[in-house]
Amino acid sequence: MPIVNRVADLQPDIQAWRRDIHAHPELLYDVHRTSAFVAARLREFGCDEVATGLGKTGVVGVIKGRKQAGNGDIKVIGLRADMDALPIEEETGLAHASKSPGKMHACGHDGHTAMLLGAARYLAETRNFAGDAVVIFQPAEEGGAGAAAMIKDGLMDRFGIEQVYGMHNGPGIPVGAFAIRQGPVMAATDSIDIKIQGHGGHAARPHKCIDSVVVGSQLVTALQQIVSRSVDPLESAVISICEFHAGNARNVIPDTAELRGTVRTLTQETRELVRKRVREVVDGIAQVTGAKIDLVLEAGYPVTVNHGAQTDFATRIAKEVAGDANVHEMPPMMGAEDFAYMLEARPGAFIFCGNGDSAGLHHPAYDFNDEAIVYGTSYWIRLVENTLAA
Ligand SMILES: [Zn+2]
Ligand SMILES: [Zn+2]
Repeated sequence: MPIVNRVADLQPDIQAWRRDIHAHPELLYDVHRTSAFVAARLREFGCDEVATGLGKTGVVGVIKGRKQAGNGDIKVIGLRADMDALPIEEETGLAHASKSPGKMHACGHDGHTAMLLGAARYLAETRNFAGDAVVIFQPAEEGGAGAAAMIKDGLMDRFGIEQVYGMHNGPGIPVGAFAIRQGPVMAATDSIDIKIQGHGGHAARPHKCIDSVVVGSQLVTALQQIVSRSVDPLESAVISICEFHAGNARNVIPDTAELRGTVRTLTQETRELVRKRVREVVDGIAQVTGAKIDLVLEAGYPVTVNHGAQTDFATRIAKEVAGDANVHEMPPMMGAEDFAYMLEARPGAFIFCGNGDSAGLHHPAYDFNDEAIVYGTSYWIRLVENTLAA
């Protein structure tokens, strides 16, 4: 069965919501306009319950099906969209471009929110399922762990969610196609903050100094060797040191240097190994050079791990919507996604919906592709109707 016909009728409305949200991007937990917009639509659609303020600005809508669930059936599933934008200056020049300087929906969360609203409207109209469809709109996906905040506020237990599903648009995947995989699909992140306290002095008298630039350079090189020499070549890891701040004169050896970077891994074992080796390398270089080095290694999002049975199920639904040939098994990605927290709490799956040949995510020229709306929205609807089939 291809896309849901009624969704084609709803497409202009969903597109209008998407562009309105796009024009008014908000960051992290400060998604007040967007969450008010979402809550107003959910009430308008006649959701049985609309809850606000979970995870500060998260919104949840509950839609009860009109069929009777049998014993042992799954009774409640959660569908999740994210609402926040990024601190990027938009360069699309589109009519619906951001009206807020320095903020932009460059990850397509405007599209995610609008598609889930579209699905909610359809589900509230038809209610052709047994049990509860719980639509989850979270803040702060982009680095603020909004999913974890909503879970902490009781998301899973309060609504009795048994399984949870997420979706992200995928630039480079054709419109009308989906991509998914079982197991690790997105990476864990850890952030590295290093402060080097050396001993500054005259550039011509290095022997009287502890050169924080040389110490920092050794660190950058040594940290790279963790990936090439400590991690199993069949495992995946990335260490990128992306900031290196030191000095302000060509003839002064600076006292201090600061480095900042990120670690990406796909399993808990590799994550722990890399964290341990980063500490050892920092300690070792401090000892060799005599510099004092402070390391702060902060854990970010966990690995996003798709559960087996739910991934198979999501794949089947995507094939119903898009056709067998248009649902692909993807390699894991080293980006991170805070839907990982929801998949730690409940079984489920995270799928990518083709955004066509657009600019990449987090790029100033990126725009969510409105042609994808009918596919993403149909996927949500079929997922509910099949999971909560009486
Ligand atoms: Zn993003
Ligand atoms: Zn995103």
